[in-house]
Amino acid sequence: MSCQLRVLGCSGGIGGDNRTTAFLLNQHVLIDAGTGVGDLQHAELLAIDHVFLTHAHLDHIACLPLLLDSVVGSRTEPIYVHASAQTIDLLRKHVFNWLIWPDFSTIPSVEQPSLIFVEHELGQPCQVGELCITPLPAIHTIPAVAFLLSSDSASIVFSGDTIGGDEFWCAVNQIDNLQALIIETAFADKEHAIADAAKHLCSSTLAEQLQQWRGGAEVLITHLKPADSELTIREVLQLDHLHPIRRLLQGEIIEF
Ligand SMILES: [Zn+2]
Ligand SMILES: [Zn+2]
Repeated sequence: MSCQLRVLGCSGGIGGDNRTTAFLLNQHVLIDAGTGVGDLQHAELLAIDHVFLTHAHLDHIACLPLLLDSVVGSRTEPIYVHASAQTIDLLRKHVFNWLIWPDFSTIPSVEQPSLIFVEHELGQPCQVGELCITPLPAIHTIPAVAFLLSSDSASIVFSGDTIGGDEFWCAVNQIDNLQALIIETAFADKEHAIADAAKHLCSSTLAEQLQQWRGGAEVLITHLKPADSELTIREVLQLDHLHPIRRLLQGEIIEF
């Protein structure tokens, strides 16, 4: 059975039509919970049963606390938030701490919470309905993962925020039914030093990283910083000629 990935947000910032990272899979699964989640109708929010997080940076979790608050009275089942132990720890300490936001893992009660954290391990697949979701290694300034998203017939890899790395490409090179690689390129090349410091890719480091990839699937660029998004995508299109590359579009639906 095929799956649908709907791009709710794929920008590195806000303003105008820009929404930060969030993908909806088959109505019930969110990959990251950036500001794109805020465009969903209430009924669509109510249908979300699982949230998989790449990491705890605000542009990827901004709507998670608000999502929980918006559906808590209307759902009988909890929302399962899947993340690494380190990411869960950061969320518990710094977000769901009764200071920034209530601890929804104890609301309305510890016995029947509206939020349940589920620790995931690198390389361990998690089956959710017709989807299989596997965290892959990623290198960023805080603990982060990429995701392998698989249906019965095809796979998509989403890099999350990362500078790439040997382990990531080793994992990607083992996937034989890869349909698309969604990979970030946050910065244009003039911000090379900032990109390196923030452990994001810029256009030239993307080109270097792609040389480690032996596959030929389509490359979809995400997380462009709004101020230089046109420049960045122009640079990307000029730098790598080995793979079909284009910009991932907010609102697009990818079947796989
Ligand atoms: Zn980040
Ligand atoms: Zn980010």
